Amino acid sequence: MQLPSTDSFVPLLRDGIDVYLGDDEDLVFVFLTTRKRVKVACLPCLVRIIPRLNGNTSLGDLLVGLDPDTQNKAISFLAYLREKGIVVNGSWLDDLELPSPYKKKLERFATFLLDTVGSEYEASEALHRIHAAKIALVGVGSVGSWMVRTLNMVGFRRFILIDGKLATNAVREVFPSSSGESQSKAEQVAILLREIDPHVEVSFRRQTIRPDLEEQFSLDGVDLLINAADEPYVGYVNTLLCRIALHKGIPFFAAGGFDAHLGCHGELTIPGQTPCTDCYTRFFQRSLTDWKPVDHPVSDRRLGFGGLPSLSAYAAAQGVMTILRHFLNLSEEPGGRAEFLFRNNTTDRFRVERDPDCPTCANISQPTLRRVASLKTTQVLANA
Ligand SMILES: [Zn+2]
Repeated sequence: MQLPSTDSFVPLLRDGIDVYLGDDEDLVFVFLTTRKRVKVACLPCLVRIIPRLNGNTSLGDLLVGLDPDTQNKAISFLAYLREKGIVVNGSWLDDLELPSPYKKKLERFATFLLDTVGSEYEASEALHRIHAAKIALVGVGSVGSWMVRTLNMVGFRRFILIDGKLATNAVREVFPSSSGESQSKAEQVAILLREIDPHVEVSFRRQTIRPDLEEQFSLDGVDLLINAADEPYVGYVNTLLCRIALHKGIPFFAAGGFDAHLGCHGELTIPGQTPCTDCYTRFFQRSLTDWKPVDHPVSDRRLGFGGLPSLSAYAAAQGVMTILRHFLNLSEEPGGRAEFLFRNNTTDRFRVERDPDCPTCANISQPTLRRVASLKTTQVLANA
């Protein structure tokens, strides 16, 4: 257990946590957004400290008047609460070596991180990792436009946007065009994203997905490749891009939310950990062996798919949460497909395992997430 220093530690009991006192001097801390509970058996003298954890009184001042034994107990108690993310240093967010506008924008999200990942140190790690992450996104239409917007809302700010189409006035997109078809979709989204967040680093290219795609753009420095494009055919694009990503050792996310995947949450492929697109293809080839398709009278069936903008936005938001869990190191993706069924408001799920004979991913090992916490923050917490 880390012990806080009396000089630099100004304990703050986070306002997103309620505190209840039980019959036997037990304290119960309830995280309001996650419903998590932490129960602590506590001496009465320590209970009396709780109302003073206001972020204005230093640890040194809190210890004044206590005997040495009680001081040690108080220090251990606060170190425990800090480790659990219940108490933080009042200036923890200000102390992070990240741009002030970025921290200001993400105040509420940073608090959610404390609820979710635990301590200040873990939350700091996560914020720095998200701040540094570079995401390449193919397809910025009805799903991809929502994804890039939502990713930016949770702190991602470095994007490569790729789309082969010109901008349209599509009602399904979060960035509707007002400039006619003079811009590419990717350029239009990049421009409007910069208007919303002037601090984004976004590049774009008008690029149609073709088999020689790998030779046409670099994924150097990219931490995640997303496909939200369904043309020329979603299965083809997913397979092509997933193979490229795995070849580079980069996680790949196949988005749902359109065509026959309207309610799908999307699937994250983490190299060496979760099934890849080829694993899914091989799974369906085996499981559908006895199904005998009849020739359909409509040859080009792309216009036959129904759509619902809110399902596209839903799938995009689900996808962003999956991606976020990965960057928070919470990802224990079991592999499988989840699909929301609008008619009865349920979610259908089934599991797909990695295929040990998959020619694409069978021999790939798992990469590790970058650790990018600032030195200053690391030292502060290490010294505490
Ligand atoms: Zn595979």
